[in-house]
Amino acid sequence: MSSTTTFSRLALATLGLGGLAATTAFGPPTKPTPPQQGVGINLANIDQSVSPCEDFYHYANGNWIKNNPVPAAETRWGAFNELQDRNIAVEKGILVKAAADRSAKAGTNEQKVGDFYAAAMDTMAIESAGLKYLQPRLDKIAGLKSLGEIQQYMADPKSYGTGWYSFGVRQDSKNSTQYAVSMGQGGLGLGDRDYYLKEDGRSKGIRAAYKTYMTSVFQMLGDAPSLAATNADAVLALETKMAQASRGRVDLRDRIKNYNKTTVAQAAKDYPSLNIPLVLKDSGLSGAQDIIVGQPEYLAAASNLMASTPIADQRQYFRWHLVEGVTSALPKAYGDASFRFQQVLTGAKQQQPRWKRALRATDGALGEAFGQLYVDQAFSPASKAKAKEMVENLRKAYGERIMATDWMSADTKKEAIQKLNAFAVKIGYPDKWKDYSKLKINRTSALQNLFATSEWRTEDNLKKFGKPIDRGEWGMTPPTVNAYYNSSMNEIVFPAGILQPPFYDPKADDAVNYGGIGAVIGHEMTHGFDDQGRRSDAKGNLRDWWTKEDNEKFTAKADMVGKQYDAFSPLDSVHVNGKLTMGENLADIGGLTIAYQAFQKTAEAKAGKKIDGFTPNQRFFLGFAQIWRANQRPEAMRQQIQTDPHSPGQYRTNGPLMNMPEFYEAFGCKDGNKMVRATADRSRIW
Ligand SMILES: [Zn+2]
Repeated sequence: MSSTTTFSRLALATLGLGGLAATTAFGPPTKPTPPQQGVGINLANIDQSVSPCEDFYHYANGNWIKNNPVPAAETRWGAFNELQDRNIAVEKGILVKAAADRSAKAGTNEQKVGDFYAAAMDTMAIESAGLKYLQPRLDKIAGLKSLGEIQQYMADPKSYGTGWYSFGVRQDSKNSTQYAVSMGQGGLGLGDRDYYLKEDGRSKGIRAAYKTYMTSVFQMLGDAPSLAATNADAVLALETKMAQASRGRVDLRDRIKNYNKTTVAQAAKDYPSLNIPLVLKDSGLSGAQDIIVGQPEYLAAASNLMASTPIADQRQYFRWHLVEGVTSALPKAYGDASFRFQQVLTGAKQQQPRWKRALRATDGALGEAFGQLYVDQAFSPASKAKAKEMVENLRKAYGERIMATDWMSADTKKEAIQKLNAFAVKIGYPDKWKDYSKLKINRTSALQNLFATSEWRTEDNLKKFGKPIDRGEWGMTPPTVNAYYNSSMNEIVFPAGILQPPFYDPKADDAVNYGGIGAVIGHEMTHGFDDQGRRSDAKGNLRDWWTKEDNEKFTAKADMVGKQYDAFSPLDSVHVNGKLTMGENLADIGGLTIAYQAFQKTAEAKAGKKIDGFTPNQRFFLGFAQIWRANQRPEAMRQQIQTDPHSPGQYRTNGPLMNMPEFYEAFGCKDGNKMVRATADRSRIW
């Protein structure tokens, strides 16, 4: 529930586009290639037929892109996936061992991890159980006869994947020392309103596939074919109305507009059919005086819809969402139907192997229960120390850049520096691991385990209300190849999973590490100062600390970045959405600039000694570009452009570099080269 901004959602790739004419090869190594001396950059990935000044992404990664097509079971494949696969291999070893160990004491983390994975892998048991463990919940839904009973169902924290709206406890973004009850739009099976409302061919195709998916599931649940189709139509019609009342992704980014605190009494009056007092009571939140409403107009519409939609249709809606959330733990036919739909959405050719899906589910359910074992095997105290040192070097460099900006007033600079100095830093893994003692996991039913996990997570969230903020909590598990900034905590977080090659390599030169994990650290820091992050202060509170003039100057600079990215087009008629990706693009540009500034202070940068024919600064930019190497299926690319706040990898590389004179200089790029923007068109915020 916390508002975090991640480095990536493994949504970072691009097609290897043709179309750019091969231009003069740039610089060393000349053929024949001498044996590589340096560590951290694979020279064989470089495509010498592309000029670094025309398209640096394809120069740095072109040969890798040609030689590494997307595997059949993946939708994109790149440096993140390669590293993730290495982490998964470590996790698999841990899980297989835990599953084989039948002697673990009941109630211990070892027992839970082993049983969860074993049950998820036990396809025989899943097939023979059929709908046995689902039936009580289906019966409950079938028994809903009135609006009052629907309200009761919605209020029960045990209802799994219920729908209609989102609800939970989270940090109050205007009073960050308190937890608050939060409520907003939600409940769309397709996840994004545009899939319901747009009339282009792809959106229509996705709706058709969604309907097919629902129809086949309803049939598997026992409906006759015509009834199954009617029920699917009813769900799609209801979700379309919900989509019409929902905000789009660009509007959802606005932290001010999506913060609407109201009293419980007022909310109860404004959204009468949602029966908010009952929801609070059954969630153990009767003490709440206020609710932070994300999207008031949505809750108003949902309240009306809940009262006006036939109960029979709502039953189908609940039934669908119950099943759709747990297909992985149901007989194979359900998972296959789900995958057929995913294929339309992402273009995947093959389902991921069962062990990989079971592993991901175990990581999602109990990631901190075996995180310690993962960390013991895959993370060294030296990596943690080095990452800490780099964070402090970047913090110092950031401070210098803030003070050196020519557009920001002294008052705003003072607040910015306070915020920078207040960033909390988490590296590797939690100091205090999550307590799973109340979560019951068995070896008998994968489905029961999913329900138990969901209920435990809800309970874990609700019980925070009224307690002090848990500042030790992590939003990602240790093996995750990602990082995040959390604005209410004003913290930057780097799991052990990303502190490895190609992001960080203890054997590599500083250039590669500053271009890799350094740019990641700078990225997360810059989220604290991106178009939304800048709206909260050192304490994590939404508070406008900008002078009017500085605010206007920042906005003008950010708008310029928006236009730059709007112009990027990875596929015919598909353009990056500069407004949706604004925060991430600003973080990419600022992050690389700060990492570069910090790198300049190292002895290696000052000495300027070449490795494999490349200067330290050239290696810095090569190290940066290589983390974004990837191939991606066109369907997955379209999905990313529509729904993901991160730009495709080629623009995460070239976008920032096109604004950096330091890059032009490192590679001798000149006015007129594609990578060189005219002075008036460059954006420099930090
Ligand atoms: Zn980010």
